[in-house]
Amino acid sequence: MKKVGVILLVVMFSLDVAGASWAADTLVDVKKKGVLVCGVKDSTKPFGFIDERTRSIVGYDVDFCNAIAKKLGVKLELKPVTSSTRMPDLATGKIDLIAATMTKNEERAKQIDFSYMYFYTEQKFLTRKGTVKTLADLEGKKIGTSKGSTSEQNAKKAIPTATILSFDDYPPAFLALQQGRVAAVTTDESILVGLMNATKDKNNYEIPNIPISKEPYGLGMRKGDTNFVNFVNKALLVMEKSGESDKIYRKWFPGKRLFKITDKQ
Ligand code: GLU
Repeated sequence: MKKVGVILLVVMFSLDVAGASWAADTLVDVKKKGVLVCGVKDSTKPFGFIDERTRSIVGYDVDFCNAIAKKLGVKLELKPVTSSTRMPDLATGKIDLIAATMTKNEERAKQIDFSYMYFYTEQKFLTRKGTVKTLADLEGKKIGTSKGSTSEQNAKKAIPTATILSFDDYPPAFLALQQGRVAAVTTDESILVGLMNATKDKNNYEIPNIPISKEPYGLGMRKGDTNFVNFVNKALLVMEKSGESDKIYRKWFPGKRLFKITDKQ
């Protein structure tokens, strides 16, 4: 009797595990529920931020969510995430897709799957004008960034003598710079430009040309969610071919787009 019980347990457990992997077909789930829940930033211009007129979240990342929801034929729901909550929110099913200034790298790819690169930038520093010319000027200084970001890790590696202060988000890190509590804010150049342009005294700040890393962005999906990853990747290639991805870029950034969406990265 006991043996039968154990066998039954093993069978039930295996079914459960198999069930879990069947359940992880977001493509089927999203179509069934009729809504794609996208995790986006809500205070990161121009990727995900609140439009003061409409009070809704808009931006480059939001436009990619919109395009994918449209291709899926479902509604879009946006949920704000931060750099440190986006992966747990995906793992617990709070969101279906991360579109939140997220760099794709090998470390993160152990836990989640990424789409092809849909944005490219580099990590730099935002400083008070004339204070930083080379990396050496930041030795031993306090530098602000956001918790759970690659920016945090890259800065520690690039300037080991600096003290890296990790805030919940980038705007508080920028406030610390404005108040003289840090000598610089570090993250992706595209985000630093957004922070700088949104302030009234932007002429007091600059982004010296000191890149410390490459930051290709990918859309994040649950590990092994192959059908959904394939769908999203195909959607990105179609958007690239039709010119839609370039149109989204031009809507949010000045100048020419220096990257392309391909199946190679
Ligand atoms: N792209 C970097 C990252 O994924 C920095 C921006 C962010 O914190 O989202 O960590």
